[in-house]
Amino acid sequence: MQISFAFAVKFLHHIRVNNMKKRLLKAIKIIGIISVVLLIVLIAAIFWSENDKSVTKEFVKNENLSTIKNNWQGTPVDEKGRFVNHEFPYLPKTTDILKWTFGAHPQKQEKNDDKDRLEIKDPTEFLNSETDGILWFGHASFLIRLNGVNILLDPVFGEPSFITRFVSSPSPIEKLKKVDFILISHDHRDHCDAATIEGLTKKFPAAKILTGLKMNELIQDWNSSKTEIQTAGWYQQFKLPDDKIKISFLPSRHWSRRGLFDTNARLWGAFVIEGAGKTIYFSGDSGFGSHYKELAEIFPKIDFFIIGIGAYQPQFIMKPNHNTPSEAFQGFLDSRADVLIPMHFGRFDLSDEPPSEPLRLLKEKAAEANLAEKIKNLQINESLAIN
Ligand SMILES: [Zn+2]
Repeated sequence: MQISFAFAVKFLHHIRVNNMKKRLLKAIKIIGIISVVLLIVLIAAIFWSENDKSVTKEFVKNENLSTIKNNWQGTPVDEKGRFVNHEFPYLPKTTDILKWTFGAHPQKQEKNDDKDRLEIKDPTEFLNSETDGILWFGHASFLIRLNGVNILLDPVFGEPSFITRFVSSPSPIEKLKKVDFILISHDHRDHCDAATIEGLTKKFPAAKILTGLKMNELIQDWNSSKTEIQTAGWYQQFKLPDDKIKISFLPSRHWSRRGLFDTNARLWGAFVIEGAGKTIYFSGDSGFGSHYKELAEIFPKIDFFIIGIGAYQPQFIMKPNHNTPSEAFQGFLDSRADVLIPMHFGRFDLSDEPPSEPLRLLKEKAAEANLAEKIKNLQINESLAIN
């Protein structure tokens, strides 16, 4: 009796182990099938996206804002609701990103050997003053004080996530005394940072955010004080509370994306700020195009031309989106502006060229044209007076 009981326990245990094994095998099979299906979907999505084209279907604008260019129909949008560059429609290619990730990096050694870094200055004196000027926080982040109005452009402060840095500088939010407007050129993380916007809107609840169409859908969750977010289409002028300054939104040759499925869902662009008899152009991110010549037609006297000169290598991926130093200089000549302030180099590590190459090439180009004195490059937290 005892023997048969022990046998029964053993038998039942054997069945249980067998059942567990079967269940485990079944689970592995299901996970395997799901993985294969996901892989097929991913590969299909890559190939599908490579053949995708962005063709303009209609033109959109913010109906509450005025348009400053004659006969401008509005900002182009394709059949999927994505914004389209008016001159060079662009969609990023996954195969290019794979080629960049796994391909050759001819400047790798040169980049590793380049130890030149931007200096980090103390911005306190300018921040505490009330004089008009332009202060660079590095990359595309600026404080412009014009006619006494304080305007932050693409503020990305402290140590934003997902971005490798060449240099670190502490967030200046505590030191900022007054902010009237926060301008965001587009949704890329090196220009538009959740923590910075949260911190700024908390400290300056009256500051207004001015940006491109559809950007409000991204930014509103970070807007601590629920302050006004005004969005413009290209060649539209923002509605400001008084006429101390004017701010317009202009086209740039770029694209936008924040997540996996939001390519070109939000508009990118450049800004022109006018006040106290001065005109300042801020390029945002841009590849080269005829928009610099068009700029000169609308704004015949630009005093300061702030333009990105870095993140241009490798060219097969960067050319449609970021100027080379030489293209940036050509844009400056085309715009007939007076002074060029270079940005978008030396703070974040986004591309293959060595960190000190963009400024060196820009200065060489300007020297060749006998225009070296037109380049006013700043160190981080350094300012330039407007007078
Ligand atoms: Zn960008």
